[in-house]
Amino acid sequence: MISMEGYLERLKNGSLKLYALEKELAPEDAVRVRRGFLEERTGVKLESIGSFSINIDRAATKNCENMIGTVQVPLGVAGPLPVRGEYAEGEYYLPLATTEGALVASVNRGCSAIARAGGAEARILRDGMTRAPVFATDSVVHAKEVADWVAAHRDEIAAAAESTTSHGKLLDAVPIVTGTSVFVRMEYDTKDAMGMNMVTIASARAAEVISEATGARLVALSGNMCTDKKPAAINLVRGKGKSVVAGVFLTDELVSTVFKTTAAAMAEVNTRKNLVGSARAGSLGFNAHAANVVAAVFIACGQDAAHVVEGSSTITTVDAAPGGVYVSVTIPSLAVGTVGGGTGIGTQHECLELLGVAGGGDPPGRNSKKFAEIIACGVLAGELSLIGALAAQHLARAHAQLGR
Ligand code: NAP
Repeated sequence: MISMEGYLERLKNGSLKLYALEKELAPEDAVRVRRGFLEERTGVKLESIGSFSINIDRAATKNCENMIGTVQVPLGVAGPLPVRGEYAEGEYYLPLATTEGALVASVNRGCSAIARAGGAEARILRDGMTRAPVFATDSVVHAKEVADWVAAHRDEIAAAAESTTSHGKLLDAVPIVTGTSVFVRMEYDTKDAMGMNMVTIASARAAEVISEATGARLVALSGNMCTDKKPAAINLVRGKGKSVVAGVFLTDELVSTVFKTTAAAMAEVNTRKNLVGSARAGSLGFNAHAANVVAAVFIACGQDAAHVVEGSSTITTVDAAPGGVYVSVTIPSLAVGTVGGGTGIGTQHECLELLGVAGGGDPPGRNSKKFAEIIACGVLAGELSLIGALAAQHLARAHAQLGR
């Protein structure tokens, strides 16, 4: 173990920058010295932040700059959750990292309803991660010429983009003209990676080719037509990442036994709250609390938590059917991966292992699709439970018991 004193002194007199510690020290020592400096500077003891099990060699260099430790989030499981997907087939225990009391219990109740119904079905509708650079042109005529060039040179753009990655494949490059701005929304199959880094690097190369050929000036590699980490109708309409659906048929008897309500009451809650209420509020999410499950799974499984924004634009439907109801969730934009990003961190990797989706799939892409199907069924479980609780007027009671 290195002696802290010399480093603390240099940090204090400014001859060593806080962010530069890893240049001189192994990650573990750099994190310890940085934490020590902060403790001394602020007078706050950071014992809990400094107590952790993960190996930080990679985390401190690839996942988090200026690292001082970790925060711990309680982790629960909901399940067994039987899934009948194209990629996920079997019973799963869904890891949920949360501090919201009642959430895991609620999702667990939904899982139990799904289990009694014989499992939820799930399908991937579309799979494509997007990046949309914005180019400046001289006039609307020039802008149209750039858009036409992009449409006519897809293979050339794909060759440039794919020269930067062995896994990524360009699926589409859609030009969108607005005045003198041209956006090119590039969509990629990123296999098991969530893909935002991969598509950013690939799109940078493709943008060079477009600029060279057309004279359009690249203004920003991300022109917000992607759209990354902001609520956006384009993701809801065209999809970004995985577009995934899950559904289950519940009999009247099951609704009555598990949720203590009726199919008609659940359908009315869904229509008046999730559809009419969301429309009236101008919301992009037509669901009860999809983001709750997406966030808890994302935090547990090393996903980029800011992409919960896209996942929150979920649409829940409750259709009357003979003898019961068919309940579904459609998540047009679920940004998930089983390699890259935070998926390699010890605790997060174990959560992915729990679902049988850690690392690259065989063939590549299989694990991330399986993961997306499981999450969609988890979101369905959450929707069932909350809609059921609202229909039975049980929501406040459950929160009073479990949340405080
Ligand atoms: P990444 O760790 O940057 O890249 C994934 C890597 O995994 C690629 O280099 C790929 O290699 C490799 N790989 C190995 N096996 C693979 C398989 N089976 N399928 C796919 N790839 C495989 O992760 P990413 O998913 O592209 O990006 C996620 C990260 O981006 C997160 O940390 C997120 O926070 C961050 N992010 C970045 C931006 C941005 O604008 N840059 C925006 C939002 C989020 P090859 O490419 O060589 O094939």
